[in-house]
Amino acid sequence: MDIKSIGIVGAGQMGNGIAHVSALAGYDVTLTDVNADALKAATDVISKNMDRQVSREKISQQDRDDAMGRIKTTLTLTDLGPSDLIIEAATEREDIKHAIFAELLPSLKPETILTSNTSSISITRLASRTDRPERFMGFHFMNPVPIMQLVELIRGIATNEDTYKACRAVVDKLDKTSATAEDFPAFIVNRILMPMINEAVYTLYEGVGTVTSIDTSMKLGANHPMGPLELADFIGLDTCLAIMNVLHDGLADTKYRPCPLLTKYVEAGWLGRKTQRGFYDYRGDAPVPTR
Ligand code: NAD
Repeated sequence: MDIKSIGIVGAGQMGNGIAHVSALAGYDVTLTDVNADALKAATDVISKNMDRQVSREKISQQDRDDAMGRIKTTLTLTDLGPSDLIIEAATEREDIKHAIFAELLPSLKPETILTSNTSSISITRLASRTDRPERFMGFHFMNPVPIMQLVELIRGIATNEDTYKACRAVVDKLDKTSATAEDFPAFIVNRILMPMINEAVYTLYEGVGTVTSIDTSMKLGANHPMGPLELADFIGLDTCLAIMNVLHDGLADTKYRPCPLLTKYVEAGWLGRKTQRGFYDYRGDAPVPTR
């Protein structure tokens, strides 16, 4: 199937990045969210990020204008009906994702491919509640989407080969690299990354190190470009907790127990950069550790 148009559900940090790279690659994009402010913020972020690419001579002004012209936003989910490919990138909650697919399905063409950018939820289970499990896949971008090269493609039990090939062709056209993962909790990247972040939070919780000493240790001692707590703030602490819960529930192993301190930050609404506070406070000129 030749994919020309992409419908994106959720205009948060992932949805706006997916819209950005898809429009630049020549796809017609329709972006939706339940929150009008999120849609407005997404267009502003995309426009600002493309301007930066123009100033760095990565793209031309004409590329930028054409790409911005290919992005439509809407508060009505069913406006995504005519799209050839749907990428769902709403909040990491299974009930929200099921409800989105249930509302969207009646307006879709029979051949439309449905995908989810979920970090951890079972693709097979999401697919089983739709009318097209064979045309359903995990399409997992990394954050920030315009910069990170990898897309994990996750096959559910029922995903057919044509769907996989069509999605792989989209990844190629986005000029990114795909890695194929089987559908087990958190797939590959987060199966390895999240327990490390959770362990960093335990290291903080048990007083082994401060926020600064933990991040400095992993940057300078393990050569990671970002410390694990800085990275957790960047990803979103609610997303990190949701992924740990999926690993804990799905693999039934206590080694995946979310750290109580991570839960506490989420309960406080300190979700990281997106709420200005997490393991660091971002409200001033430079981030300040909150512990
Ligand atoms: P986010 O909180 O920044 O954005 C989520 C958006 O979804 C919000 O704007 C919210 O208003 C919207 N939304 C909620 N319910 C909706 C509905 N019913 N219909 C339409 N929009 C709805 O979250 P995010 O970080 O962009 O994550 C989105 C998805 O991408 C999640 O599944 C997450 O696991 C996955 N993901 C996140 C990262 C990351 O680093 N943050 C990386 C890869 C994948």
